[in-house]
Amino acid sequence: MEPIFLTPYFRPKIWGGRKLKTIFNYDIPDGQIGEAWVISGYKNDASTVASGQLKGQSLRTVYHEHPELFGQPKGEEFPLLVKFLDANDNLSVQVHPDDDYAHKVEHDRGKTESWYVLQADPGSYLIYGHKAKTRAELAQMIKKGEWDNLLRKVPVKAGDFFYVPAGTIHALTKGIMVIETQQSSDVTYRLYDYDRVDDQTGQKRELHTQKSIDVTTVPHVDPELDVKTTTEQDAVIKTLVAPPVSPHFYLWQIDLNGKWAATLNSHPYLLVTIIDGAGTLTADSQTYEISKGTNLIIPNQLKDFTFTGKMKIVISAPGNDE
Ligand code: ZN
Repeated sequence: MEPIFLTPYFRPKIWGGRKLKTIFNYDIPDGQIGEAWVISGYKNDASTVASGQLKGQSLRTVYHEHPELFGQPKGEEFPLLVKFLDANDNLSVQVHPDDDYAHKVEHDRGKTESWYVLQADPGSYLIYGHKAKTRAELAQMIKKGEWDNLLRKVPVKAGDFFYVPAGTIHALTKGIMVIETQQSSDVTYRLYDYDRVDDQTGQKRELHTQKSIDVTTVPHVDPELDVKTTTEQDAVIKTLVAPPVSPHFYLWQIDLNGKWAATLNSHPYLLVTIIDGAGTLTADSQTYEISKGTNLIIPNQLKDFTFTGKMKIVISAPGNDE
């Protein structure tokens, strides 16, 4: 049994840049590339298996056809989505619905997401939450365009972590690069897009004012995060978020300097991204070279595996109900 190595799916964006090439050495298309969907089973935007017996198949297909690799999951769709985002300009100010609203209105999942910050220009901030006290006040401030009064700006630097539950108004801004771990969904409600016009279409992107007002949590509440750090052999493991605070996923960031013999530890499978450094992964008597930008899934059959090297790793697992 082999780990499932994945090739990203790239998305051009009005706010994208070239760092996915310059920092991660990905073979990206020309233009402003904002997103690499590095572990994705989402509809037509899935990543593809890079090697081995399943080479060339989309993760979506593999999840449908080989449920045994994922511990016989309940759901039909791969539940999580991991992306790199290169914000070469401000992203639209947006909010995502929760599962109930998204199922009813969009026939899709809700979207709770999270950001682990890889890079941030000095003085960077992002938009996280709002200052309205009631829904009526929120609606009024949005309709009048009182963005400076409404939006909360939070300073940001590399290594920061943000958990962004559905209903949280948020935006990345120029000069920030993150790895985003989220529910597999593409339902975004845009409140404000800086009145930008798309070069290609000559149009402003659509806003979703009423839906944004409907799904935003009012007043804003910061989630209570409790980041715990443990050490296993040569690995320092930070648990960034886990159920019940985050019902949809577990998320860890690991600093490895040496050797870490790990296990699935009762998770059905793990999503693994190397965000810095290089080394090897040994599983089922095979050793694989891995380095910054490598993405893979440890399937259900690989109960134990060993990382060796000097690396920063981000690992996630589905929540208990997926
Ligand atoms: Zn978002």
